[in-house]
Amino acid sequence: MSKVVKFGGSSLASAEQFKKVGDIVRADASRKYVVPSAPGKRFKEDTKVTDMLYGCYELAEQGKDFKKALGEIKERYQEIIDGLDLDLSLDDEFAVIGKNFREKAGSNYAASRGEYLNGIIMAKYLGFAFVDAATVIFFNEDGTLDEEKTNEVLSVKLAECDKAVVPGFYGSMPDGSVRTFSRGGSDITGSIVAKAAKVDVYENWTDVSGFLIADPRIIENPQGIDVITYKELRELSYMGATVLHEDAIFPVRQQGIPINIRNTNAPEDNGTWIVGSTCQKSKYVITGIAGKKGFCSINIEKDMMNSEIGFGRKVLQAFEENGISFEHVPSGIDTMTVFVHQDEFMHKEQKVVAGIHRLAKPDSIEIESDLALIAVVGRGMKSTRGTAGRIFSALAHANVNVRMIDQGSSEQNIIIGVANEDFETAIRAIYDIFVITRL
Ligand code: ASP
Repeated sequence: MSKVVKFGGSSLASAEQFKKVGDIVRADASRKYVVPSAPGKRFKEDTKVTDMLYGCYELAEQGKDFKKALGEIKERYQEIIDGLDLDLSLDDEFAVIGKNFREKAGSNYAASRGEYLNGIIMAKYLGFAFVDAATVIFFNEDGTLDEEKTNEVLSVKLAECDKAVVPGFYGSMPDGSVRTFSRGGSDITGSIVAKAAKVDVYENWTDVSGFLIADPRIIENPQGIDVITYKELRELSYMGATVLHEDAIFPVRQQGIPINIRNTNAPEDNGTWIVGSTCQKSKYVITGIAGKKGFCSINIEKDMMNSEIGFGRKVLQAFEENGISFEHVPSGIDTMTVFVHQDEFMHKEQKVVAGIHRLAKPDSIEIESDLALIAVVGRGMKSTRGTAGRIFSALAHANVNVRMIDQGSSEQNIIIGVANEDFETAIRAIYDIFVITRL
């Protein structure tokens, strides 16, 4: 049995947090590969080291004095080193970083140092080998991951070390320069390492005990999710439920490696298991509810639309030409509706409308704004009668007017459109009916 364990920024924000991480890693000999983030916030108003690095580098790029800002970053690490009583000095590392900043090594390089330095400390603290991610994770010229080369080099390297620390968030470009993933990208590194090392489990340690059925800002103390499939997770994260970086799913999913989301501050909790498929039924008919506000719908009408070949393509072309991606396209016999993000659409609205007129020659176009979409997701819905009925009667009882319904062909999700101002009420009504009263 072997595991990759990735720790998020809040799990590594201070020496005290590092000690918890050390205990977790040492408690299980199969935790062989550790992927650390940079130190995150120690308290609510604190600044993440990654953000400090971006800020510091900006000064360097503007030719301003960045000594003080870099000194503050060094202090964050020194505090951790002192708190752990480590015989380690980062003086040489910081001298190199300062020099590279002066030589304008780029903001990607700057941000990556957060994980790099934390990796050095972690390796020393645990007595594991340190593997610089720039030597084992590779990007293509266009910034996408070079999966093949990465997997080849990384798996050979990991096979050489019994236990290793690979810092998250970055790798290198074909010219050798450092590049980072998008924010939160250490999750992706964890997944890539899990794939290359062919481990049994990818544990992702954070500051919550896994996924919750609904957003705790809307539902007080929502229940947790024990097991969720990749597919369900994709649906929920697309709708804004964020615990894990979206791109972290693909590498492990290809290999059938489950992800276990765990809480560094409550290691006794089982957390959430993310799996390919499972015969385990979720406790409730639904696995989760998530949603987002701020959508617009463009309702297009044309007589005999149903028999006009290519109508949908022409409508969507108007969006494509303006660089707008669509979210949902429910359609009727002579109507087609396109849901888009309001903020993306707003300033291109008239161009898109003109494009639809030009390309598809509809009878009319109507635009509605301030809509919210809610996804009710669950692998159990397929085999349960009346799920949709229950959702809509709950919404009717809560006085919520449903503006759109879209059931995905996988039958694992039902998407509901409501007015922005009904968003919270709708989520509460759905949570109530499935989780509280368990109808
Ligand atoms: N430290 C980086 C960030 O703040 C990457 C990560 O934590 O995953 O986005």
